[in-house]
Amino acid sequence: MTAVGIIGAMAVAVPTDPLHAALRDRFGHGDFREGQREVVDAVLAGDDVILVMPTGGGKSLCYQLPAVLEQQTTVVISPLIALMKDQIDALTARGIAAGALHSNLPQSAQRVVESAYRSGVLRLLYVAPERLVRPDFKTMLAETPPRRLVVDEAHCISEWGHDFRRDYLRIGDVASALAPLQIVACTATATVEVREDIAGRLGQRRPRSFVHGFARPNLRLAAERLRSEADKLSRLDEVIDPGDGHVIVYAGTRARAATLAARIAIRYPTMLYHADLGAEERSRAQERFRSGEVRIAVTTSAFGMGVDIPSVRQVIHAALPASLEEYYQQAGRAGRDGLPATCLVLYTAADRRLPEFFIESSSPEPPTITGVYRSLRSGGGIDPGAWSMVGAPDAAVAAISDAAGDAARAVLRDAGVIDPSGRVVDCDPRRLPVDHGRIATHRRLAFRRLDTFFAYLAGRECRHRFITRHFGEEGAGQVCGSGCDVCAPRRRDPSGDPVEAVDDTTVRRALSAVARLNGRVGLVRLAGVLVGSRSRSVAAVPGGTDIPTYGAMQGWREADVVELLRRLTDAGALQLSPPPYPTVSITQLGVEAMRGVQALRVADPRRRSLSVRGHPHDTRAGAGTRDLSDDEARRFAHLRAWRTRRARERDVPAYVVLPDRTLVELAAAVPATLDALATVPGIGPAKLALYGSDLLETLSTMSAAETVP
Ligand code: ADP
Ligand code: ZN
Repeated sequence: MTAVGIIGAMAVAVPTDPLHAALRDRFGHGDFREGQREVVDAVLAGDDVILVMPTGGGKSLCYQLPAVLEQQTTVVISPLIALMKDQIDALTARGIAAGALHSNLPQSAQRVVESAYRSGVLRLLYVAPERLVRPDFKTMLAETPPRRLVVDEAHCISEWGHDFRRDYLRIGDVASALAPLQIVACTATATVEVREDIAGRLGQRRPRSFVHGFARPNLRLAAERLRSEADKLSRLDEVIDPGDGHVIVYAGTRARAATLAARIAIRYPTMLYHADLGAEERSRAQERFRSGEVRIAVTTSAFGMGVDIPSVRQVIHAALPASLEEYYQQAGRAGRDGLPATCLVLYTAADRRLPEFFIESSSPEPPTITGVYRSLRSGGGIDPGAWSMVGAPDAAVAAISDAAGDAARAVLRDAGVIDPSGRVVDCDPRRLPVDHGRIATHRRLAFRRLDTFFAYLAGRECRHRFITRHFGEEGAGQVCGSGCDVCAPRRRDPSGDPVEAVDDTTVRRALSAVARLNGRVGLVRLAGVLVGSRSRSVAAVPGGTDIPTYGAMQGWREADVVELLRRLTDAGALQLSPPPYPTVSITQLGVEAMRGVQALRVADPRRRSLSVRGHPHDTRAGAGTRDLSDDEARRFAHLRAWRTRRARERDVPAYVVLPDRTLVELAAAVPATLDALATVPGIGPAKLALYGSDLLETLSTMSAAETVP
């Protein structure tokens, strides 16, 4: 069978059921992402659902697609007006009728949306949580019941979570008034206990929970504890490497970020990105980063919202966030293109203080709250909008941080002691109507989350497994094998492994799998098919487990297969569609190689790659950082192949034969006599006796080959 035949046959087999058709025609997506299809099915079936996917994972589609197929409106509760607006704009642009109700909307516009809802023309209605207390809103829902209620950012309802919002508590009441009503809860960050809490508070009936997208096999996860800040910085210098993509470095504070950025900028174009940038500066900075003009962004935790750059090759934390959820959300910006990327935490014992400080200031103790109240009263009884603007703070709180002062102000606002207009209500400072017990619980839970994060950092368990288990994703319990520093510690020994080509049959099988699934999956899923993975994401590839090459590379690690596919792409046999979700397809060259018409040599990714640049254990200054000319590199590769044969014969590791740096010297000097060979660093009398004439012969055949045109 020819490749063209295979490709042609697959084109016919592309699924055309109504859901796929709607996905394509209404949303412009070629296929479902992992997990989406099942969720859509459950939503359409009327089940209560808890959907947990990382930010950007594609949760909205899971309720928007059902909504466009039905007659009744889906009501979505969403906490951020800005995000709501983005969603509505996107939906409207696709010709889907959607509206929003929130306090920023003029009265007249509200009335238009309400009557649109009542007449049933809206497919989706977004509402801000504050709306839930309004009787007119409840009446509207009672008179015209929605098809279902979707709760976005559903973890906000849980006090166990990190983002509790009091107004979210009302959702349960509204839902129960409309019972039985289907409820779909969506969140990016929910651990198993938070998930149970969400279901309980929303009054969901035996919800089906779906967790997807946390397992990211293309990420290499690592954490290193350094002894001092100075060690941390030099380690950062050592590891930072944007490759052909980008790096994000997280620093704890703005001052720290500025120092780090200045340091890194000596070697790479670097930018500083922090919360205080104006909207315009921010989008300019993002554009410079995206375009590649700047390769490294040093940032406080501000970086994120709305930034989705697929080719981030490293996310390095030089400061610690306060929870694993927060960490993984930031680290997860690496490798969105599905290609290998690294998430590294560099920390010292002292780095625990910063998150502790945030936790402490965000859950203020009773004396702080009282002191802040007194300060506001004596300052004229009006809250100026920020603690830093309070004129003469009460002596008891004169030295607290802005964060602590603002947290106390928020508590007072929540308790009604500061009213919505900013007026500070008159009451007995010793008897403020504040729930101190609740704040203490928050603090305790926050510290528990920090402890969990430290358990992750300690690295007693495969980091991938730790994360999938923490988020409760299916498949948790499997260790990654080589995708983290616990399973595969950094090798101290820089010995050169031989550069070997992947055998022909394997290359052709890999190409054939691409041809079968042409343009329908990305590298990672394709690798899953080739290794015969039983994961859901692979099972979800239409026809993926039926093709003859399913499991053809069993025994390979998925990450190595991804790397092989990447090398085949570099070699021109495969091509990737444009980001952000590149799918892989075969090229003409690839088809020829698959048929055996054209030979392809691809270095085996299971071996360490040819790296003679700057390995850290090279003691001789200069040798490690030298760049090889093309000829030298070719000789070096030949010498390595020679070394592999000798190492095999003698059954010793390659570096015992000769270390890399000696091969580099040989490749550069090309000695022609035993005497000349003896002057090459690393060739002592013993090596000379063992390999001298052998090496001379190898070197002479190489240079002979070079002079022949
Ligand atoms: P979340 O709500 O989980 O944070 P979104 O629903 O906003 O994520 O989706 C993130 C991005 O992914 C959007 O740009 C969306 O268009 C895109 N997306 C979602 N599903 C698919 C799909 N099946 N194929 C391609 N792109 C998708
Ligand atoms: Zn691991």
